[in-house]
Amino acid sequence: MSSDTISINKLPVAEEFYSVQGEGMNVGTAAYFVRLAGCDVNCPWCDSKETWAVNKTQYVDIEDITNRAMKSESCNVVITGGEPLMYNLDNLCESLEKQCLSIWLETSGSHPLSGNFDWITVSPKKNKPPLDEVLEQASELKMIISNENDFLDAETYSKKVPAECALLLQANWENFETANALIFDYVLKHPIWKISLQTHKILKIK
Ligand code: SF4
Repeated sequence: MSSDTISINKLPVAEEFYSVQGEGMNVGTAAYFVRLAGCDVNCPWCDSKETWAVNKTQYVDIEDITNRAMKSESCNVVITGGEPLMYNLDNLCESLEKQCLSIWLETSGSHPLSGNFDWITVSPKKNKPPLDEVLEQASELKMIISNENDFLDAETYSKKVPAECALLLQANWENFETANALIFDYVLKHPIWKISLQTHKILKIK
């Protein structure tokens, strides 16, 4: 179904939940998560495959999303997916912003940027590389590392983000121990990078 046929004040939501940011520079911070449905990136190791398909029953009013986010104890809202930038996020951000919520985005960067965010995490994926216009707005660059070749992509993208952007290396969960050993050595040799751990998976929380 094309999102063009749906009201611009509705977005497809796979799930919403209140938890703690498990990874990246905001790790450990409570936030309300809005996981949008739909992704066209198709990473083979994706741990959110249930979000790839979209159906029309998932479309909900932006106002309702905002109301639920406001009722959480945190003033932080994470817009994630799926790939949230498949949709125009201007109206959602405007609605959240009116309530003085801090809005964080998690994206592969493979679609044009829309919306206005307080924090942008760009996590590039091989199947659909990020656009320069998204990299240029990144607050943190989070590279998923499976093998040594992935460090080449990390270095390439690190040259396209702002100077103040945090540079993070995170192990692919499917080969966590091997990848973490590579990352550990790499960070010692290239200390501009930091290790990012998926603490929500280690703690077995959502
Ligand atoms: Fe999964 Fe994210 Fe890749 Fe989409 S971009 S396939 S949600 S890991």
